[in-house]
Formats: sequence, C-alpha cells, structure tokens
Amino acid sequence: MLPQSPRTKIVATIGPASRSPDLLKQMVLSGMSVARLNFSHGSYDDHAQTVALLRDVSRELDMPVTLLQDLQGPKIRVGQLPAGSIPLTDGGLLTLMPEDAYAGEPGTAAIDYPYLAEEAEPGTQILLDDGLLELRVKHVAERAVQCEVVKGGILKSRKGVNLPSLNLLLPSMTEKDKADLAFGVLQGVDWVSLSFVRQAEDLRSLKALLGEHKADVAIIAKIEKPQAVENLETILDECDGVMVARGDMGVEVSPERVPMIQKHIIRRCNQRGIPVITATQMLESMIQNPRPTRAEASDVANAIVDGTDAVMLSGESAVGAYPLDAVGMMARIACEVEKEVEFENHPPVKNDEANAISEALNAIDSMLELRCIVALTTSGYSALLAAAERPRAVVVALTPYEAIYHRLNLVWGVRPVLMAQEVTTLEEAAAYIDVVLRERNMAQSGDRILIMGGIPFGQSGTTNFLKLHRLS
Ligand code: PEP
Repeated sequence: MLPQSPRTKIVATIGPASRSPDLLKQMVLSGMSVARLNFSHGSYDDHAQTVALLRDVSRELDMPVTLLQDLQGPKIRVGQLPAGSIPLTDGGLLTLMPEDAYAGEPGTAAIDYPYLAEEAEPGTQILLDDGLLELRVKHVAERAVQCEVVKGGILKSRKGVNLPSLNLLLPSMTEKDKADLAFGVLQGVDWVSLSFVRQAEDLRSLKALLGEHKADVAIIAKIEKPQAVENLETILDECDGVMVARGDMGVEVSPERVPMIQKHIIRRCNQRGIPVITATQMLESMIQNPRPTRAEASDVANAIVDGTDAVMLSGESAVGAYPLDAVGMMARIACEVEKEVEFENHPPVKNDEANAISEALNAIDSMLELRCIVALTTSGYSALLAAAERPRAVVVALTPYEAIYHRLNLVWGVRPVLMAQEVTTLEEAAAYIDVVLRERNMAQSGDRILIMGGIPFGQSGTTNFLKLHRLS
C-alpha cells in the first residue's frame, strides 16, 4: 500500500540548524520533499555541503529530494553605519544618500540603490528593516533624499530597504545572482527561484542565462512586489512554478492584502497547472517553541485548502531550535486537512487534447477506486497534467530522467519514481509498472490503476493515452 505521507509538499530551508546528515535524513523521512538553499545567506561551501548530503540521503533512501536554489535578486540595503545603528524618532529627519556620496554625517545613511534621487518624489514611501521603520520623502536635492520618519525605531547597518511604489532602475539579476546561478547549475539544482520579480522579462533574462549555461533547470517566480501582482498573468506565461513570498509581500503591499493575494495567485496557478509554494512565517513560533500557535496551524491548513502545492519553512528549519518537529508538524497538519478537503474543479481552459485527457482522467478518478495513477513521463508534463486535476488517487510519476524525478517532487500529489529500465511498448510498460508498484508496496494483485502518458514513448509533451489496468 502507499504509506501515509502528505500529498501537499513540504519545502524546508536548510541552514545551520539542519545541515547535518542524520537530521536531513530524518527530515526527508518526516515529509520534507524540497530543500531550499537560500542564497541570501550561507557560503558556497555551506551550500555545496547541503547538496552533497541531500544527494546521498536521496540515494540511500531511494526517494527523490528536490533542490531549490533561491536567488536573492535585487535586494536593496542600507549601508554600514559608523556606530552600527542610529535611532530614528517619529517626526524626525533622515537623509538617504548613494554609497559613493555618503560621508557618515549625523542624520544621514547610505543606501545601495544609486537612483533613489532620480525616482523618488515628495510623498514616496520608504520602508526599512522588513517594514518595521517607515520614512516618507520630503525633499530631493541632487543625490540626497531627505525623509521624514513616520515610524521610528533603531535603524541598524545593512538592513533591507523596500520601495514599493518605485519601478526601480535595477536589473532583475545582480552580479551576485549571476555568480550564484552559475554555482547552482554546477551543483545540479533542480529548480531556481528569483526574488523581486517585477515582470515577465525578468524571467526571460533568467532563462537566457540558464540557456548560456546549457542548463535545463525549472524556474520559479517569487511574487512579492506589487508590480508582480499586477503582471501575474504574463509572469505565469514564463515560469514553471511560483512562490507566494509573503515575507517581502507583507512589506511591499501591506500585510492585510496578503491573504487574498495568496488565494488569487494559488487559484490562477491551479487553473494553469503551475505548481505553487506558499512561503514564510507558516510556523514562525516554532523557531523557539516545540509547538506552533493555533493560528499558525490554521495558516498551513488554509494554504492547503486554497490549493497550494507546497508549504514552506524558512527560519523554522534553517536556524530554529525544532527543525524536525516543524517538518513533522506540517506533515501532520497536511494529512489531517487532506482527509477532508475538496478542491474546486476547474473547467478546461481550452478544447484541446491535453484538456480532454484531463477531463477524462478526472471522470475516471472520481468514478472508480483507483489505487494510483501512473504517469509515464519524460518531461514531467503528464504528471503535471494529472496533478492539476487534484485526483483522489496518488500520481506515481515514472520517469527515466533523474532531473525530472527530483523536479516533480515539488508538485502536489506526485510520487516520482526513477525508472531502472527503458520501455518501448504499452505492454512492456504495464508489465514493468506491475513490478515497480509491487516492489515499492504501492499496489498489490487485483488493484486497479490508471496508466497515462504519450505514445510513442520518449516524446515530451504528447500525453495521448489513458489505460485502465489491473495488477496481475
Ligand atoms: C519571502 O519574502 O517571503 C521570501 C520567501 O523570500 P526571502 O526569504 O528570500 O526574503
């Protein structure tokens, strides 16, 4: 039988609290499907060690483990302050200067965005330190931007700056991102996510760069800027996956708008069959505590009810005191919700073969007790098509390619299995599937399964058959 594991995928950010062989193995066994390598932190040595450990764990357990490289993107920061910090009082003044014009005078701070004076105008909102501090531009004089403090506090060196209303004259990827991407490609990451995406063009640039590296890596658009929310449809045309990056989104568009934006993004991704991760602060209090707050448990549950493919841990698993408990808690919440949740049935977007196959799969899955749906897939397309229907039966993705095997493990309800032999006919495939499912305790004699894929085998993107089959 298929052992009980959640159909919702768990993404865990790896950091000093979790970078050890035993712990990583336990995290995978407890439900972690995807390991996020956050390139805003950690050295190349740290990330290389994580990759090596996880590839070992994956081989040892004969289970896929997806590696997600998260690129920092064009993050703006305050510069080094002479005393390490400055107090900002409500109603007081602070002048922001580009780094090359900053001389450390009292009442000033440097910012590593050289075009602020060109773009800002009186009234422009500037948020510092994850939105804890707020400034409003009063006056722009040459390259100095004088601001009034709206919400004061202590401003520390290198804190992040958010400029929600500005379009930002910044490239979508920094030199650091480009170097990090080259490193990630060499390490063989399965997915790469880009922070602060503003428009579809940002993703085309990322794909062009991956093309230069001759790397076939799937890409995720992190939606956190108001411009990305506005440009969602064209962004979805260019990406393979999406992250609802609620941390920066809460600063860029305000916390009260996050819940409905989350629901909207998830719905649009579900309708288009694009995997989506809901991220940040899901079990935040588990950084210190062994149990989450009830509101946090509900947040994870609600994201699953919304239709998210994956839920993500950040600080909880990277630097928290209870990384393994956090994974286990997410898995248990997911299993509970999945017993009861009923997903919306999306009408076909087009009358084409792929949609016809999906509709038929849906009808068969709801009418018959299937043990599982086996997608024979080279590109991952058939498995994505099946998962998008949120079927009752688990989708077992049989693929001959290791990259696809790991990549598909981010997708809701998909259990990837690496094929150990090639099949050329449907009869051969059915015989092989019998063996694989039995060996893995995923099905037994007499169980009814649905096989899907494309004939001739090996051509990607040609899902053209569904076959009902009983295990001999
Ligand atoms: C976020 O902002 O929610 C996010 C996931 O990105 P990061 O952790 O890189 O800030």
